[in-house]
Amino acid sequence: MHYQPKVKLQSGSIDGVEALLRWQHPVFGSVSPVEFIPIAEEKGFIHKFGDWVVKEACLQWVHWNVKHKIRPVVAVNISPIQLTKDDFYSSLVKILEETNMDPQYLELEITESSSFRFEEKTNKVLNQIRNLGIQISLDDFGTGYSSFSVLKQLPINTLKIDRSFLQNVLGDVEQEAIVRSIIQLGHNLKFQVLMEGVEQYEEVEWLKKENCNYVQGFFYSKPLPPTEVLPLLKQSRIEFVQ
Ligand code: C2E
Ligand code: MG
Ligand code: MG
Ligand code: MG
Repeated sequence: MHYQPKVKLQSGSIDGVEALLRWQHPVFGSVSPVEFIPIAEEKGFIHKFGDWVVKEACLQWVHWNVKHKIRPVVAVNISPIQLTKDDFYSSLVKILEETNMDPQYLELEITESSSFRFEEKTNKVLNQIRNLGIQISLDDFGTGYSSFSVLKQLPINTLKIDRSFLQNVLGDVEQEAIVRSIIQLGHNLKFQVLMEGVEQYEEVEWLKKENCNYVQGFFYSKPLPPTEVLPLLKQSRIEFVQ
């Protein structure tokens, strides 16, 4: 598991990290989750897999908290398919208990996908999860199908704008207008807004001007193994230097 910092734009502080899975294969080397998550979904082992991911992230948070007195919000990606399983909620509660995780420092990132629509059943589970104090973000916003219609009914805290919206945004007046409007839409609905895939200093400056709340991307840090992300968390504040 690797962890990528999420940076609060106003202060430059790292308020959270996103847990991203890595598979070190003896022959193929590092295999991207883009390759193996769909297979796990298709074959049905995403549920066991997903529980392992949540537990691992919780154990990591507890370690940071106990050993280093550091408490970043730890976000894990949840496949929509996991949400449809009846015992998802009870598994989650069990993991919280087993690991001694403080739920307010856990965040679940939910992605919309073409094969999945948010339905009443999934909304109910998401509401139960919110009631535990866990935070929820809508990942890759703008790439799904029913983005706009689901927004007002979903119990989410944060909109994560898909990084494709940021590509070549600067200087492209129409593209700037789109991103600006999404940020405002998020704020009007009382969500925090995070921009993914920030790679350049100019993008940081522009997003700050547009009142985007959080950014994440290679400009600050790639996803790192726990030992390498720890010094960043300890330092807590990433300087805005070019
Ligand atoms: P995501 O949740 O949208 O994660 C962001 C992806 O963008 C990550 O790719 C990250 O390494 C990459 N990224 C971050 N900053 C930048 C940047 O500045 N530029 C560019 N070009 N890329 C950046 P990664 O780690 O390959 O993960 C891909 C996707 O796989 C994730 O997208 C997520 O949907 C899924 N995934 C990863 N780990 C898990 C997991 O544990 N469970 C589930 N269900 N899905 C996971
Ligand atoms: Mg994510
Ligand atoms: Mg994303
Ligand atoms: Mg993505």
